[in-house]
Amino acid sequence: DSIVQFENVGLRYGTGPEALSDLSFTLFSGQFYFLTGPSGAGKSSLLRLLYLAQRPSRGMIRLFDSDLVTLSRDRMPGFRRRIGVVFQDFRLVPHLSAFDNIALPLRIAGMRDADLATPVREILDWVGLSARGDALPATLSGGEQQRVAIARAVITRPDILVADEPTGNVDPEMAVKLLRLFEALNRMGTTIIVATHDIHLMTRIKRAQMMRLEGGRLFDPTGALRYPPKP
Ligand code: ADP
Ligand code: ADP
Repeated sequence: DSIVQFENVGLRYGTGPEALSDLSFTLFSGQFYFLTGPSGAGKSSLLRLLYLAQRPSRGMIRLFDSDLVTLSRDRMPGFRRRIGVVFQDFRLVPHLSAFDNIALPLRIAGMRDADLATPVREILDWVGLSARGDALPATLSGGEQQRVAIARAVITRPDILVADEPTGNVDPEMAVKLLRLFEALNRMGTTIIVATHDIHLMTRIKRAQMMRLEGGRLFDPTGALRYPPKP
C-alpha cells in the first residue's frame, strides 16, 4: 500500500530558487528508504515536507491517503503523531532525564504517569539504556543521546519514522547499532526514511531502497524521475 505520494511537488524558500522541483514519487508502507545526495540537495527540505514542518509551494502530497494541502489545521496534530522524527543533533530537552524525554510524547497525549512507566521502561531496555533512565542528556554520550531520541520518536508507535542524518554525530560502530534499531522497527512494520550520505551505512540494509536527490530533483538513471519502482 502507498503511504506517501508526491505529485509534482516544488518548494521555494521566500523568493529564492526552488529548493525542490518536480518531485513525483510514491513510498510504500513497511519499506525502508535511504535518501541520499550531496549537501544542499534538498534532503532536509524533503523530510520537513514529510513530517509536516513545511508546506510545499506547489504540487500535491498525499499522506496516509489524505491530501495534505486540503487537510484542515485541526487534523494536523493527529497526523504528526503518526510520524516519528529523529535529528542529527538529537534535540533532547536538556533539563529532562532520559526517562522523561521518552515519556514526553505520551504525557502530551494525556497518558497518566502510572500508565506510562511500563512502556517507557520497556523501550529504555530496548535501546539498551535501562540503567540510564535518570540521566540528563548532557551526561550521556552522543550514541546514548541518539538512542534516547529514537526511543522518544517511536514510543507512540508511529507508522513512519523519519531520520535526518541520524548517525552524523556518532562514531561508526554506534552508527551501525543505530541502524540495527531502525531495521528492527522496520521489521515490526514501521516505514523508515533515513537521509544520509554515509554510503557504507546504506550497504548494510540489503532490502532498502535508494532515493537520490541532486539540486532539488530526484535523480533517476532512467530519466523518468519516478522513484522508487513499486516493490
Ligand atoms: P540537504 O539537507 O540535502 O543538505 P537542504 O534541504 O537543507 O539540503 O537545503 C536545500 C536548499 O534549500 C539549499 O540551497 C539550502 O540553502 C536551502 N534552504 C534550506 N532551508 C532553508 C531555509 N529555511 N531558508 C532558505 N533556504 C533554505
Ligand atoms: P504558515 O505561513 O501558514 O504558518 P508554514 O509553511 O510555516 O505556513 O507551515 C506552518 C503550518 O502549516 C503548520 O503548522 C501546519 O499546520 C501547516 N502545514 C505544514 N505542512 C503542511 C503541508 N504539507 N500542507 C499543508 N499544510 C501544512
